[in-house]
Amino acid sequence: MFGPRLFGLVKLGAGGIGSGLSVRREREKRMHFVVCIKQVPETTDVRINPETNTLIREGVAAIVNPFDTYAIEEALRLRERLGGKVTALSMGPPQAEAALREAISMGVDEGVLVSDRAFAGSDTWATSYTLAMAVRRMGEFDLILCGKQASDGDTAQVGPGIAAHLDLPQITYVRKIEEIDAHRIVAERLLEDGYEAIESPLPCVLTVVKEINEPRLPSLKGKLAARKATIPTWKAEDIRAEPDRIGLEGSPTKVVRIFTPPPREGGEVFRGEPGETVPQLVEKIQGIVLGSGG
Ligand code: FAD
Repeated sequence: MFGPRLFGLVKLGAGGIGSGLSVRREREKRMHFVVCIKQVPETTDVRINPETNTLIREGVAAIVNPFDTYAIEEALRLRERLGGKVTALSMGPPQAEAALREAISMGVDEGVLVSDRAFAGSDTWATSYTLAMAVRRMGEFDLILCGKQASDGDTAQVGPGIAAHLDLPQITYVRKIEEIDAHRIVAERLLEDGYEAIESPLPCVLTVVKEINEPRLPSLKGKLAARKATIPTWKAEDIRAEPDRIGLEGSPTKVVRIFTPPPREGGEVFRGEPGETVPQLVEKIQGIVLGSGG
């Protein structure tokens, strides 16, 4: 259970926004919200090919990562409050375009797909580098919103990775945006036993949790816009990605083995008075630790 405890206001400094990023200086211009969305298998019953150690995607319907629908909704609410535009960005195979069309049907203004065979085998570091380079290519932006995590990969690393590659401040696990204007944001960050309020200059990266809002359903107008929308596909050279920082080559993580953990066995219950059961338990643990019991 999360109590309503507030752990003070933490202020973040500006990231290295002078490092080649074309960041908005004149705040009277339109705000630009970028939402990163990932297309994932619809099922939580993810199956692994034991020979290649890769996900079996055939025959599994694809959806927008559920956590990303909260990021989309929050970006739309910010646009309604502050004006500007929302761009959805996805990296994936050509069929990930469907995820971008779904975002447009919810009200997003534009979608951009980053897709190239050279990205195959990317780990979270290479994925976040690729997405960061695509954001750079977009030019001016104020806020990058991501879901808390992807329902298939589940690492929750890509949002923070994008912030690291762009040298921007980040606020993760955001459950509420308290204040925002063209220059700064104050957001509540979910903790295990409460929350903390973080203040950050813009631009920055947020990852959001499902407590933040209730995502809207696509509208008829949105569905028509989604059908008509032209979605550009950017390749590695379009985003000026360095060849040795993308795909398998640019991925420091090596997957040695992927497997489904065996189901837990029933365990053993010691019944009786503590004076009797505690020594039994200690003996059992000693046996396991010393390798003579099981
Ligand atoms: P998380 O970090 O849990 O996602 C957090 C948030 O980041 C999401 O809510 C979303 O907002 C954003 N996000 C994450 N991914 C994307 C995306 N692609 N586009 C836009 N926004 C995104 N996967 C493959 O599909 N093909 C491969 O060939 C492949 N090879 C891999 C090889 C290695 C060595 C490793 C370690 C992983 C590989 N993966 C591959 C998995 C891939 O790296 C991850 O799926 C990807 O990096 C995203 O990580 P995640 O799913 O844990 O996302």
